[in-house]
Amino acid sequence: MATQEEVFKKMVSHCKEYGFVFPSSDIYDGLAAVYDYGQMGVELKNNIKKYWWDSMVLLHENIVGIDAAIFMHPTTWKASGHVDAFNDPLIDNRDSKKRYRADVLIEEQIAKYDEKINKEVEKAAKKFGESFDAELFKSTNPRVQEHIQKREALHTRFAKALNDNNLDELKQIILDEGIVCPISGTKNWTDVRQFNLMFTTEMGSTADGSTKIYLRPETAQGIFVNYLNVQKTGRMRIPFGIAQIGKAFRNEIVARQFIFRMREFEQMEMQFFVRPGSEMEWFKHWKEFRLKWHKALGLGDEKYRFHDHEKLAHYANAATDIEFEMPFGFKEVEGIHSRTNFDLSQHAKYSGKKIEYFDPELNESYTPYVIETSIGVDRMFLSIMCGSYKEEQLEGGDSRVVLQLPPVLAPVKAAILPLVKKDGLPEKAREIMNSLKFDFKCVYDEKDSIGKRYRRQDAVGTPFCITVDHDTLNDNCVTVRYRDSMKQDRVKIDDLHALIDAQVNMKNLFRKLID
Ligand code: ATP
Repeated sequence: MATQEEVFKKMVSHCKEYGFVFPSSDIYDGLAAVYDYGQMGVELKNNIKKYWWDSMVLLHENIVGIDAAIFMHPTTWKASGHVDAFNDPLIDNRDSKKRYRADVLIEEQIAKYDEKINKEVEKAAKKFGESFDAELFKSTNPRVQEHIQKREALHTRFAKALNDNNLDELKQIILDEGIVCPISGTKNWTDVRQFNLMFTTEMGSTADGSTKIYLRPETAQGIFVNYLNVQKTGRMRIPFGIAQIGKAFRNEIVARQFIFRMREFEQMEMQFFVRPGSEMEWFKHWKEFRLKWHKALGLGDEKYRFHDHEKLAHYANAATDIEFEMPFGFKEVEGIHSRTNFDLSQHAKYSGKKIEYFDPELNESYTPYVIETSIGVDRMFLSIMCGSYKEEQLEGGDSRVVLQLPPVLAPVKAAILPLVKKDGLPEKAREIMNSLKFDFKCVYDEKDSIGKRYRRQDAVGTPFCITVDHDTLNDNCVTVRYRDSMKQDRVKIDDLHALIDAQVNMKNLFRKLID
């Protein structure tokens, strides 16, 4: 059996081999933590974005979209707190010269205690069989109790150090826990320092006349600075939301795990403006809605969990992550934050403009509170790939790689395959393709044996293969082969549209979200 790590490596190579994701500027050996999406990847990515956008803007009459510029007035980032506080604590190992995020090293240590606890529980569960009571075991077994106590103590100390911004204490925790550099194996650590993650550039042509500006590290601020524009021109009434999809840039200290942590990435963010005092209710609402959105894709409910934040950002009064079980553990895919009225108040202060809402029902003005849902397109893409990539052993010793993508997201919905390249079969296949291509992304393939062509489609996650054979010319039927079961059915050409639509239409998912 391949380990999770090996499977992940293979999945990454698969992404390159089949045109999903390439390293950026590949011919120059790439650029660290920057990636390009290929011919398959861009289709999958666009489908993810459409699923998100429509679930916000189409399904909610009180949510509208915008598309703000990446460059923003530099005062934006002073007001938002990013110039002063958008930092990560970094630490270097003197022997390997490798740089790490101090908080991530400690979080990984906490995860190690969790693993130890889980292992003990699993071992005992095997030993005691059906009568096993995991909670009782955890509260009474001395070894497990010791692990739990150590974990809790570490957790409390870590949360306090983060909240106090105490960099010396973060280093001391790393030393006390005996955390070593995974490369050099030593504890020869530097002090912990703060590092601002924003990229800067200059706008304007002359050296003295130019202004330092930032590449936006989140799309959210483009929404806040447009709050008044949208509210007024759209005659929006609270509660309402503004959604946006766009690029963001962060000079991440450590970039690892493929497209999980990139320096240029894309976010899908929605800011929902509410009455002060109602924010916790809406926070709960959006938590539930967003989890439903993920689960509707059918990758397995057990792969998702909430994780509440140890340290609240300077603007938040509640925050949680939706995590997905990647091969390297449960990891954040989306953040849901209650941002209070921090951003709008700050922009009002720095711009000198009054940013308030007059509530006709209450007959009073106030600065709205905000619930934010923020998801990375690329991380979502990665979670979908990790959840879909399967290596299967088949009967007869054969094997295949199949991407069991949710059909609504699959880059190609159907492949049209004439059994042979003659006898009028290609013409018939083209005819079928032309009748389907207005609604579904289809490909035509006549090269190689039919078995090889099926495998190629499995590898990119195409849910339907449609084979045209000699009988088709007489009975107007084709063989439909299903990706996951590999079962084959004889289907009338006239029924193909409905058959495909039933699986790939996003309406199927939207219905699950609003019932
Ligand atoms: P992390 O703790 O992993 O650095 P974060 O909590 O700083 O992430 P947010 O600022 O909440 O992330 O951003 C919202 C979402 O944007 C994240 O849930 C993630 O999906 C995505 N995201 C953030 N940073 C990156 C990155 N460097 N590469 C890819 N996606 C990212």
